[in-house]
Amino acid sequence: MSGSPRRVVVVEDDSETREFVARALREDGLEVRSAARADSARKLVQAGEVDLVILDVGLPGISGLDLCAELRRDGAAVPILMLTARTDVASRVEGLEAGADDYLGKPFALAELRARVRALLRRGARAGPPEAVLEHAGVRVDLRRRRAFLGAEELPLTRRELDLLARLVRAGGVVVERETLLEDVWGADTPEAAASLEVIVSRLRRKLASGGGASLLRNVRGIGYALDAEET
Ligand code: CA
Repeated sequence: MSGSPRRVVVVEDDSETREFVARALREDGLEVRSAARADSARKLVQAGEVDLVILDVGLPGISGLDLCAELRRDGAAVPILMLTARTDVASRVEGLEAGADDYLGKPFALAELRARVRALLRRGARAGPPEAVLEHAGVRVDLRRRRAFLGAEELPLTRRELDLLARLVRAGGVVVERETLLEDVWGADTPEAAASLEVIVSRLRRKLASGGGASLLRNVRGIGYALDAEET
């Protein structure tokens, strides 16, 4: 994807942090909007006017976590980078469970913020490989359009969920080891990536259980995951 600049919204009530982040990203050639409150950010996302959301957990009124969960419930697939003052694993997992794609603990180095923003935008813009549509077990993943379907129904997925699902569909029912998923989808086998994998898998399992039945996503204990056509 090239041409028009990528659009980022920085959602943070603290004006100093907000402007600091906005200025840095503008220097990187991004089109940056600022939002001090959840409701203005929500409008921009719902209007499809952003390619990435940088979301502070601490906001007046509704928290960043709640806003994130709400946007996901509404089916927004835009990548979300969560900013959190707390850096312990529990609060990171909380952010990922709410539907964030990545998180950054405050205080953060600008270089790290920039790198993560680039990675999330790249993931969103990546053109599909030659085989643009993958299919297995009734699941279809359109890599170019970054959309996934279960039968005729579109699945509302985050970037990570879609990447993980695509990897499992590509394997065609063969068990994919956890380590392979961490390398292929997260790019690193770290404790943070492993915690993220757990969260993404459990979200994906729920989304792949049609009509309250068994999920297509099978956990092969101690080994990895597979996408099955039927319950095992
Ligand atoms: Ca704040």
